[in-house]
Amino acid sequence: MSVKILLIEDEEKIARFTELELVHEGYEVGKAADGRTGLEMAKSGAYDLVLLDIMLPELSGMEVLRRLRKTSQVPVIMLTARDAVMDKVSGLDMGADDYITKPFAIEELLARIRVALKKAPKTETAAAAGEEKPLVYGRLRMDTARHTVTYGDAPIDLTKREFLLLRTLLENKSIVLSRDTLLERVWGYDYMGETNVVDVYVYYLRNKIDDVFGEKIIHTVRGIGYVIKDK
Ligand code: CA
Repeated sequence: MSVKILLIEDEEKIARFTELELVHEGYEVGKAADGRTGLEMAKSGAYDLVLLDIMLPELSGMEVLRRLRKTSQVPVIMLTARDAVMDKVSGLDMGADDYITKPFAIEELLARIRVALKKAPKTETAAAAGEEKPLVYGRLRMDTARHTVTYGDAPIDLTKREFLLLRTLLENKSIVLSRDTLLERVWGYDYMGETNVVDVYVYYLRNKIDDVFGEKIIHTVRGIGYVIKDK
């Protein structure tokens, strides 16, 4: 299974060049051109390593890193501008694994990627899928590394947000999660949209799982929130 790298970089030329080189090396590459999208993708847990530019639209690389580190220890290599010493220092302080100065030689980047991947704890890498335990609830099974959900033998097609919501509920089995908690964990602190979005997505999930397979999985706790009860 190939190693997945997320490249968060708004300079298109650099992003495209780096992507080509990484793909050439046999990596799978995901790209984001702004901090907000990048953070969301990084938090999905689908990537083994993140290459993170600092000057980004929407959310700075530092802010992406700060928020990402609340929930994830995925290796992060910062892409910094030449001589931005402060960026390097604060990036490492905030939990970046390494940094590389732009413009960089691709060989150097590849070497740093290999080092960062080697240092990463095994359970944290999506590539170690075989070793990562799936989340199981009766016949419902979520493979977080492969990003698949099945009920018995039947695959369930979920959007990224639905997947993340279901994952959060499965990881907190028998704990009632409030709408606020779910909003924060699945949509992020800075979510500005409708607050009933949690209910809407629970409805989507029930549509795709409970209704199809005739099993009540997500329970509403009136006035509080939602829970997947332990079997
Ligand atoms: Ca930039």
